[in-house]
Amino acid sequence: MHPEPASRETLSKAVISTCLSMNTQGINQGNAGNISHRFEDGFLITPSGIAYQRLQPADIVYVDMDGSSRDSLAPSSEWRMHRDIYANHADAGAVLHAHSTFATALSCLRADIPAFHYMIAVAGGNDIRCADYALFGSQALSDNMLAALSGRRACLLGTHGMICFHHDLDKVLWLGVEVETLARQYWYARQAGKPVILSAAQMDEVLEKFKTYGLQPGHEK
Ligand code: 13P
Ligand code: ZN
Repeated sequence: MHPEPASRETLSKAVISTCLSMNTQGINQGNAGNISHRFEDGFLITPSGIAYQRLQPADIVYVDMDGSSRDSLAPSSEWRMHRDIYANHADAGAVLHAHSTFATALSCLRADIPAFHYMIAVAGGNDIRCADYALFGSQALSDNMLAALSGRRACLLGTHGMICFHHDLDKVLWLGVEVETLARQYWYARQAGKPVILSAAQMDEVLEKFKTYGLQPGHEK
C-alpha cells in the first residue's frame, strides 16, 4: 500500500520550516536562497523576496513545469533552476538554493571542490563542480547549473552560492549543510597548505562503500 501523498498545506508548512532551519543552521540569511518540493504536476516553491520568518503556508507558490502559476505571489526568481532539476532528475523530490558563506566564497573564486575529503561523495561523485556565472534568475544560469550537476546532487553557482537536490526536505537540508561544511573545510585546508586530493580509484572505493553505509537491518536509508 502506498501512503497518501502529502497535502499542499502540509508540504507548504514543511517548506517553511526547512527555510527556517537553513537560517538556524547558519547556511543562509536574509532573503537569499529558496526551497521547493515536487507537488502534483509541478512544484511548491518559496515566493520571491519575502523573509522566511514572515511566510505563511498560503504564501508558498505552486508552479507548473512550464513555469506558469495562478497564485497571487510571484514565485522565487530562481524557479527555472528548480523546474529544470525536477525535469532532468527523476529522483529529485526537493531542491535547496542558498548563499552559504564558504560555498559562496569558493564560487567567487570559480573553484570546483575536489576530492580533498572522502565526504565529497555525498554529492554523488568525486568533486562538487562550480557552474559558470550567469545572471540570477536567468535561463542561462539554469543551463550552466544543469551542466555542473551532471552525475551530481549539488554544485556551486559561479559568484552566487550553491544548489542541491535530494529525495525530500530533510535530506536536502542535510545535504545543503554537508556541502557548506565541505566548502568550509576545503577553505581552511587551502589556507594552511595544499590539500592532498584522493585519487579516482580511492573515490570509487568510497562511492561503492557509500551504497551500503548507514544501512541498519530493517531500516530504509
Ligand atoms: P528569491 O527571493 O527570488 O527566491 O531570490 C533569492 C535568490 O537567492 C536569488 O538567487
Ligand atoms: Zn541566489
